[in-house]
Amino acid sequence: MMKSVTGYNGTYRKIMEMCKSQKPYGTNRKRRKFCRLNKSKSNLKIVRASRQYMYDDSNAEYLDCINSVAHVGHCHPVVVDALSYALSSNVTVCGWEIDHGNLQYTTRLKQTFPSHFDTILFCNSGSEAVDLSVQIAKLYTCGADVVVVDNAFHGSLDSVFPLSRKVSREEVEWVHVIPLPDLYRGTYQSDDPEAVEKYLTDSHEKIGKAQRNGKKIACFIAEPMLTIPGIILPPSTWLQKMYIMIRESGGLCIADEVQTGLGRVGSHFWSFQAQNVVPDIIIIGKPLGNGYPMAAVVTSRDIAAVLGDRIKEYQCTTAMDAVGCAVLDITERDQLMNMASNVGEFLLDQLNNLKKKHEYIGDVRGKGLLFGIEIVWSKHSKKPSQEIAEQIVHRMKEENILLANEGFCRNILMLIPPMCFSIENAMTFTQKLDKALTELPTTNIVNDLITGLPTISVGSETRDVRLGIFQPQEEDEDDITSSLQDNMDQEHAQHCYQDLD
Ligand code: PMP
Repeated sequence: MMKSVTGYNGTYRKIMEMCKSQKPYGTNRKRRKFCRLNKSKSNLKIVRASRQYMYDDSNAEYLDCINSVAHVGHCHPVVVDALSYALSSNVTVCGWEIDHGNLQYTTRLKQTFPSHFDTILFCNSGSEAVDLSVQIAKLYTCGADVVVVDNAFHGSLDSVFPLSRKVSREEVEWVHVIPLPDLYRGTYQSDDPEAVEKYLTDSHEKIGKAQRNGKKIACFIAEPMLTIPGIILPPSTWLQKMYIMIRESGGLCIADEVQTGLGRVGSHFWSFQAQNVVPDIIIIGKPLGNGYPMAAVVTSRDIAAVLGDRIKEYQCTTAMDAVGCAVLDITERDQLMNMASNVGEFLLDQLNNLKKKHEYIGDVRGKGLLFGIEIVWSKHSKKPSQEIAEQIVHRMKEENILLANEGFCRNILMLIPPMCFSIENAMTFTQKLDKALTELPTTNIVNDLITGLPTISVGSETRDVRLGIFQPQEEDEDDITSSLQDNMDQEHAQHCYQDLD
């Protein structure tokens, strides 16, 4: 029986799950060997950073295309000065009724939201904000269950880990996973005019089944633009209809704006606005503080009231006030949202040209300074190629450009740079990507690297003559599984991407 490897439920999922479930790699010797094989090609010793650039210990400059946390640019002097002054003048103890003088950040941040978002609760990390928002939703609705999108990531605290399907595949009875509305690679694709409705129907069935089993939905949490699963821009109306469905089930809608907020999508300050929805609760993360550990839960007074006196624990500190205001000042003064829009349009154009030229680019999607480039073995097969994506990331690093391969199959090149990323940077990026893609067939790196990667014996294999990479064939899932079990010793487990991070 032939099964597709291009769908999320296919062979690749099995392979990745098996990789992830492997035990730690035993001896230190093995672990060191793994590090040498994989890291020697990729290790960078970054010693300083400024704006959209990072510098290694030999002072080589790298264009940073992945560090969304450094929102207004690495080590921005206005942020550094503001934080340094705040830390040296007054350190706040939260939970006490203390007058800290003229703190402005809460008021200024509120102004970026529709007016009924009148309550902001400050936290130290996105994970803590997700945890708090789910607590609030549970208290407000008296429900206990959470609906999440497949392959999403919402943090790694124990309480929110089961919501992060990217890293936790464990089935948990209070978490209901709905399909990722991915029209390129998902179960229903863009050639199906009913695709969006089918995704919604599947979600409706999932929620209905939970309710029939006596479950009560507390909330639905999703990024309005699904960054972490591979920069999936939800099809129009999908999120609106999901919100209606969740509210009909009695739950609250939570928008995770950790990656997508503060003007990153170019057209709007918050990405939920670009999707024409109004969440009940919004979560913002580390870009708020340009990397300083601060995050927030934004909601209405009515909803936040369920916390009672605990609200006091989530005050803005003087340091958060200083750094948060500095980030907003720079975002406004340098018109970073506008810039994201202009650079984003330019990039989309350039990347679509590259897509026409290169067989390995299956899809390009993005908005503002948020792009995903899906790397495939061929446009026709759509088979995801982690192998080629990894070669590109390595080649780009050699060209002094830092890029990441993400997504379930690790085949999506992710571009989510500091917001000062310029048109000139975009030109450099596309030129180097073009070069990397053009040179892939002949470069020695490919063969060198392949030596360090596990080969998967799945019966018949084809050697990709262009790259010298073994391209897995579509096979019976059971054959692959048993064959993999035989072959997947500790060396194979090295390929588990969590350990490459
Ligand atoms: N949500 C999303 C979408 C994220 O990308 C992250 C972090 N990458 C988090 C939540 C968790 O944030 P933190 O790392 O600050 O805990």
